[in-house]
Amino acid sequence: MISKILIANRGEIALRVLRACKELGIATVAVHSTADADAMHVRLADESVCIGPPPSRDSYLNIHQIVAACEITGADAVHPGYGFLSENAKFADILDAHGITFIGPTADHIRIMGDKITAKETAKSLGIPVVPGSAGEVKPENALEIAREIGFPVLIKATAGGGGRGMKVARNEDDLSEAVSTARSEALAAFGNDAVYMEKYLGKPRHIEIQVVGDGEGNAIHLGERDCSLQRRHQKVWEEANSPALNVEQRMKIGEICADAMRKLKYRGAGTVEFLYENGEFFFIEMNTRLQVEHPITEAITGIDLVHEQIRVASGAGLSVTQDEIVFSGHAIECRINAEDPRTFVPSPGTITHFHAPGGLGVRVDSGAYQGYKIPPYYDSLIGKLIVHGRTRVECMMRLRRVLDEFVIDGIKTTLPLFQDLINNQDIANGDYDIHWLENYLAQPAADPAE
Ligand code: ADP
Repeated sequence: MISKILIANRGEIALRVLRACKELGIATVAVHSTADADAMHVRLADESVCIGPPPSRDSYLNIHQIVAACEITGADAVHPGYGFLSENAKFADILDAHGITFIGPTADHIRIMGDKITAKETAKSLGIPVVPGSAGEVKPENALEIAREIGFPVLIKATAGGGGRGMKVARNEDDLSEAVSTARSEALAAFGNDAVYMEKYLGKPRHIEIQVVGDGEGNAIHLGERDCSLQRRHQKVWEEANSPALNVEQRMKIGEICADAMRKLKYRGAGTVEFLYENGEFFFIEMNTRLQVEHPITEAITGIDLVHEQIRVASGAGLSVTQDEIVFSGHAIECRINAEDPRTFVPSPGTITHFHAPGGLGVRVDSGAYQGYKIPPYYDSLIGKLIVHGRTRVECMMRLRRVLDEFVIDGIKTTLPLFQDLINNQDIANGDYDIHWLENYLAQPAADPAE
């Protein structure tokens, strides 16, 4: 059994994991950079260790420092959160070599899913529907032949991809060679690997992802889907569970396909199988082998604590539920609150002079922010997540409108006003949006307040 968990992360997710540990009676170790000495996760943990200066590569990504912190404190497991080392197979291997439990999948499964071509081949062999595309790597010399086979428009994507980098659309034959060479040089610059592959470019898809959890012994469950179509620069902004576009039969069908694939793979831990969804069809794009930022909306509609499940399966205790015990109830929406200008998205670090989080039935705020907290400029700008649950989508939206009015964060700019606009938009009210909707909406000139 696990008795002490080191949380190798910061911000709201470190706090989220810490809460689960406390509920399970497991001791906690926070790690932090010198910039995060006053952070909430450090204050609430049983012990804390400073692991280096502000830049992530010297602290939150510094494997040696984190392993040393485990040894000093006697932590027998590490929860990586999301981002940072959460999908780093080498980190999982090193922990294993030190006899420390990595709360996540095996290093092999991280590797398979971390390479996009291997991930797609694996998904296909497990019975998951994939986007039509090249069988493997695409080179400048075979690109045209492959593109003609797939049919234009096509998307060139980096094998090592992440965060939407190294991705280029070619609308026709004339665009192709430039798209391939730009994608390759972007991929090389971002990932140190210029390998690219090709997919059919879907025009107006939704982004729908399935939450899975496996015990590593061949048992796995799915917890339904999240619709994360509202994105800006491939970053999710607003997420919903369930998707306004799916009915129960579609949900259970794709969910069962994913759970079944995880059983065959003997997958251990939480994972997310991401799809594009268009005209009633699902197309696999990637699998994330970690907890996602937007996991709380799944927790809201199922009542299942995903971090509890992660810790259970990592310690060999198995899943707490079987598929037929899972009850989906109501609707949940998450708004990602970033310390950014709501129109230009320029980061706005600084001191929070007033902070008042909303409350009431069906409201959850996951945030490490507090009055007087100084947001450091070194990390991503997510400062909190607002999660609202209602019995129906309409009730959830009504509650969200009320809650957005209550939320006060002063002293810095935040994306809260964006959500106040979205909640009053007719397309959003109708659930009628695809992955391009938000970019198109933001490209429109701001309404003149005098009108
Ligand atoms: P990354 O790992 O870089 O985030 P993904 O494969 O997850 O890359 O794709 C990121 C986003 O790019 C998707 O959410 C979607 O908006 C868009 N995208 C990816 N593949 C396609 C495709 N074949 N057609 C249209 N859009 C796509």
